[in-house]
Amino acid sequence: MSAPRILIFLGPPGSGKGTQAKMMAERLGLPHISLGDLLREEVKKDSPIGRRAKESMNAGKLVPDELTIELTRQRISRPDCRPGFIIDGFPRSAAQAEALDRMLAEKKLDLEAVVYFRVSEEETVKRLLGRAQLEGRADDNIESIRTRFEVYEKTTSPLIDHYRSLGKLAEIDAARSIEAISRDLARL
Ligand code: ADP
Repeated sequence: MSAPRILIFLGPPGSGKGTQAKMMAERLGLPHISLGDLLREEVKKDSPIGRRAKESMNAGKLVPDELTIELTRQRISRPDCRPGFIIDGFPRSAAQAEALDRMLAEKKLDLEAVVYFRVSEEETVKRLLGRAQLEGRADDNIESIRTRFEVYEKTTSPLIDHYRSLGKLAEIDAARSIEAISRDLARL
């Protein structure tokens, strides 16, 4: 059996990483793990995790690291992740990156690559406001979008240099069409 393929998709809110992660996962026959989706399911179920996460999510702040770390730990331990997985929306902080490193080391798994979606704030805000009208997501309003950007700049974007220095970073110009980006990704 070939080595499990473990890919992280990293980028600002609205960079399209969720859309591409889903498409690529289907193409490779791997599960797509979206922390945003997992959290929204918990909120919908009104579970203890969901109840703790809801307020931060609507405000565009990160939910406590321990919650996303625990959700990730459970999810990647399921048998469908044995051939590998694509994870988007995690890690989003240094503590989460360290936790993921430890989880992978425990399972003797290697991270294949971190795909970084590079795009300007201006472009993504436009996309997010468009999505707000289409889907009515509770956190797609202008205040929450601004907060998500600040959080991304301050807490998540330092991970770009971290993974670059490990030689794991693959950069994608995410200001282009869905098709153009997915063609690039297919060549990875
Ligand atoms: P976006 O990338 O557009 O911000 P997501 O669906 O990935 O949307 O995430 C929505 C919200 O879920 C985030 O604003 C945050 O509140 C919460 N969230 C998702 N992933 C994490 C994470 N790894 N750590 C903490 N909070 C998270």
